[in-house]
Amino acid sequence: MTSYPIVEIFHSVQGEGFHSGESSIFVRFGRCNLRCEWCDTNFDEFEEMSISQINQKIFEFNCKKIIFTGGEPALQNLEPLIKSLRPSGYKFSIETNGTVEIPPGLLDWICVSPKDQIYPNVSIKQRNGDELKCVYVGQDLSIYDELKDGFTHLYLQPCYDESKDVIWNGISFRQTVEVVKENPDWNLSLQTHKWMGVD
Ligand code: SF4
Repeated sequence: MTSYPIVEIFHSVQGEGFHSGESSIFVRFGRCNLRCEWCDTNFDEFEEMSISQINQKIFEFNCKKIIFTGGEPALQNLEPLIKSLRPSGYKFSIETNGTVEIPPGLLDWICVSPKDQIYPNVSIKQRNGDELKCVYVGQDLSIYDELKDGFTHLYLQPCYDESKDVIWNGISFRQTVEVVKENPDWNLSLQTHKWMGVD
């Protein structure tokens, strides 16, 4: 029986990027192939859930938009899960680090958030999609010159580190705003859910 490593499934509002503010169901998968220093998810703690257990949980919520996140959701074979839910009218987005290529046409929205600013040797396999969302930590934006052509919407997001104080995070915000002003291809994305104190 197909099962998936699930950290949590919950209903909230998308806090960042193009769909910021939209009611969405988040399916957070366990496991990741990277270890980013600012990662805010304990993706090593999860439970194996069958497709019918996942569906049961999803059906509790009054929402038809599903966001696959993680951990790294693209490590999973998502097709059986998506096939089980499509007939009920759900739409599917993914937030991925881009290191695994996603079968074309499987998802309705692909958001790649590459980590090559800290892992320069990790190659990005998913080179097209709807949204490219990069955490800005002072990297030279020319590292995205080739990659960004494959995406419709480009976002820079300040690194918001809850372990740091308001001054550190304020400097990070201001630096990102200045870079967006100088690079009009890019838009600012903020992790508004963290300010609101919601998941
Ligand atoms: S790719 Fe995402 S989930 Fe994986 S370690 Fe980095 S921030 Fe965490």
